[in-house]
Amino acid sequence: MKQYDVIIIGGGPAGLSAGIYAARANLSAVLMEMGMTGGLAASTEMIENYPGFENGIGGPELAMQMEKQARRFGLEMVYAYVSGVEKQGDDFIVSADEQNYRARAVIFAAGAKPRYLGVPGEKEFHGRGVSYCATCDGAFFRDKVVAVVGGGDAAVEEALFLTKFASKVYVIHRRDQLRATKYVQKKAQENDKIQFVLNSVVKQINGSELVRSVTVEDVLTGSQSELPVDGVFIYVGHEPSTSMIAHLVERDEQGYVITDEQMRTSCPGLFAAGDVRHKTLRQVVTAVADGAIAAVEVEKYLSQREQ
Ligand code: NAP
Repeated sequence: MKQYDVIIIGGGPAGLSAGIYAARANLSAVLMEMGMTGGLAASTEMIENYPGFENGIGGPELAMQMEKQARRFGLEMVYAYVSGVEKQGDDFIVSADEQNYRARAVIFAAGAKPRYLGVPGEKEFHGRGVSYCATCDGAFFRDKVVAVVGGGDAAVEEALFLTKFASKVYVIHRRDQLRATKYVQKKAQENDKIQFVLNSVVKQINGSELVRSVTVEDVLTGSQSELPVDGVFIYVGHEPSTSMIAHLVERDEQGYVITDEQMRTSCPGLFAAGDVRHKTLRQVVTAVADGAIAAVEVEKYLSQREQ
C-alpha cells in the first residue's frame, strides 16, 4: 500500500494551495481529484476579486496556474474517485478507484456541488437545456432565450456571462431582494439583456426533446405563467461534499465541517479546507488561505507526533 505524510482530497483552490505548501515543505504528499482540477472556480468564467490580477483572471486559467505551481514543487496528483476515508490507529486509509493509500494526515478539500432545484423536468432535461454550468454550456445558447434561477453571486454573475451568447436572460429569484453583492447587482441591472423576474419560483421545466419553457409562480399572488425559454441555468446554492467523512468529524446542520482556526477537525490528523468548512465567506481567496493553513498545521502535527 502506498504511504504518504498527507493525502489531500480535492483539487480545487483549497486543495491545490494545500498541495503547494505541503510539497514545498518536503512532505510526501498526494492530491486526489476525481475530475478536473480547479473545483468550482474552474467553472467560473472570470474571477474579478482574486488579488493580483488587475483585470481579473479566468477561472480555468487560475486553476491551471495553481496546478502547474504545485507540480513544480513536486506534488503528486492522482486522478481517482475517493470512495472512503477510514481511521486506522493514528493513520488514515483512503480508498480511491479500488486502491488503498495510507497517510499520516489528511486534508479534506472536496468542495461543494450545485444544489438541485427539485422541480419536475429538472432531471429529465439535464443536458437538454438544463445546466448547472454557464461556462461549460453557455455557448450552446447563442441568440436563444435562457433563464437563470437564483439570486446569489453565482446566479447573477453567470447571468451576466450568459448575455455574451443569449439574446435574453431572465433571472428568476424567489424574493424581491437579490443576495448577490451590490457591485454584481448593479452590473446586471445595467445590462439590457437581463430581465429580473422577482418574487417568483420555478414550478416546472417543460419541453419535449429540449427545454421549451418554465412554469413560474408569483409567490405573492400565487398566479402561474409560462415563460418560453430554451435553457435553464440553476444556481440555487451549493451543498458541501462531506458525507464521506461524516462518521469521523463534527459537522454543522447543513453538513459543513466544523474546524478551528488551524483547520483541525474533531478528528486528530484530519484537516478540512475550503468550501467544505463551516465559515462565513466562501471565495477562492479564503479557500487558498485555508489550504495554506491546513498544510502548515499538518507539518506541525506530524512533527509533534514524532516526538
Ligand atoms: P448563495 O449565495 O447561497 O445563493 C443561493 C441563491 O439561491 C439565493 O439567492 C437563494 O435565495 C436561492 N435559492 C436557494 N434555494 C432555492 C430554492 N430552492 N429555490 C429558489 N431559489 C433558491 O449561493 P451561490 O450564489 O452559489 O454562492 C455561494 C458562495 O460562492 C457565496 O459565498 C458566493 O458569494 C460565492 N461566489 C460564487 C461565485 C460564482 O459561483 N460565480 C462568484 C462569486 C462568489 P435567497 O436569497 O432567498 O436565500
